[in-house]
Amino acid sequence: MTDPRRNLPGVDVLLASEAFRPVLADYPRGRVVAAVRDALVLARGEIGALGEAAVPADDAEWARRVGDLLSVRDLPSLRGVINATGVILHTNLGRAPLSQAARAAMVGAGRGYSNLEFDLDKGERGSRYVHCVDLLKELTGAQDALVVNNNAAAVVLALNSMAAGREVLVSRGELVEIGGGFRIPDMLSRSGAVLKEVGTTNRTRLEDYREAAEGGSVGAILKVHRSNFRISGFTEEVKISDLAALADELGLFLFYDLGSGLLADPGKLGLPPEPRAHESLLAGVHAVAISGDKLLGGPQAGIILGDGEVVGAMRKNPLCRAFRVDKVTLAGLEATLRHYLDEDEALREIPALRMLSAPLDDLAVRAQRLCQELVEGVAKARVAEGSGVVGGGTCPGVDLPTWTVRLRPIDASPRALAKELRSLPRPVVVRVEDEEVVIDMRTVEPDEDAFLLAALNQASEACG
Ligand SMILES: *Cc1c(COP(=O)(O)O)cnc(C)c1O
Repeated sequence: MTDPRRNLPGVDVLLASEAFRPVLADYPRGRVVAAVRDALVLARGEIGALGEAAVPADDAEWARRVGDLLSVRDLPSLRGVINATGVILHTNLGRAPLSQAARAAMVGAGRGYSNLEFDLDKGERGSRYVHCVDLLKELTGAQDALVVNNNAAAVVLALNSMAAGREVLVSRGELVEIGGGFRIPDMLSRSGAVLKEVGTTNRTRLEDYREAAEGGSVGAILKVHRSNFRISGFTEEVKISDLAALADELGLFLFYDLGSGLLADPGKLGLPPEPRAHESLLAGVHAVAISGDKLLGGPQAGIILGDGEVVGAMRKNPLCRAFRVDKVTLAGLEATLRHYLDEDEALREIPALRMLSAPLDDLAVRAQRLCQELVEGVAKARVAEGSGVVGGGTCPGVDLPTWTVRLRPIDASPRALAKELRSLPRPVVVRVEDEEVVIDMRTVEPDEDAFLLAALNQASEACG
């Protein structure tokens, strides 16, 4: 018996065949040649496992394989997905989806030139740091504002500007990891400041801060919002206003790493009380940092709000150049902030807020419809109540009641169906729970329902 590997066609023979004409019409010859070589290598490998059966029967089958390889390679690496996980601010899925106005502003800023660092009035060089500042001042009452790349950069910049070479007091209950390797002690040491731990994990009192401030070369107090976990039981932490009074008395800089960035009223979103930037500024912190792409609902950014002098010093810090924000982000952030001038508009237009406040009845109706329209016979589908989370390291312990469609494939495992859904050109990301694929309607935009239905039918059939 001859080795089937010896009978594989040559590259030139395939390229010259009639079957390859459409492929060569669609792609440059060089790319087709490379893909043919790869298809041959793949077939050789498969022959080892499957024998003759792995060899395409004819030129048309070779052309199909090569065409598939090329179309997969044409998919962008970073591409849109449908988030059916129920996690609204899913860091792995890009956190906050953007409003229509924000998207349009970003396209506009990317399309051509802009006055990013150009003073249109004077016709001379301006500063990128003027954009968004007036809006942020109006919305939060801050004296000044500075936008950088993300909140992590904001923390490093603030501590480096205010406490490099000096000690920074942090409660032991706040020496946390926020996620993605953002650990407060590491960030602090990279900023050039020296960590001085205060209190215990569960209880820190004002006197602990006062004692720690004595004698040493303390420059600042850092307060960190425990945004991604809760501690409960026998606990005590110092009120921001008391920390502010102590900082003033001792001449220390008080910085609050707040993270979540909620600007809207948590009550209107069905969320429990959540600290907000304007409240901490009122309580007397010198500066506070928030993320642009968490509960604010905008693009990735870090926003520092605070006293004029303090924020001005940060703007002059050379590190600010390394953390600088780009024009497309600034355009999206400005459009997002503008929604907040009218809170109802913010709740309506900003997708993360809209998803948070989506009425349960609407989710139930959409889940019912999706379930009814699924093709029968490939999976058992049912509608069920469920619970989602806000995500993105915010609102720990908050369950968002929701409606789900739960699918149990008949001839495949739920993991196989989930994988099939992820392999679509526009992937659908789901949870798998109790041997079912769970589709949470809260994080699916209503205008994605038709696409989701088609995707579920296609993937279920491919699995069946
Ligand atoms: C999310 C978060 C960060 C990190 O923010 P990024 O914008 O992701 O860099 C820092 N601190 C707190 C308290 C956070 O919640």
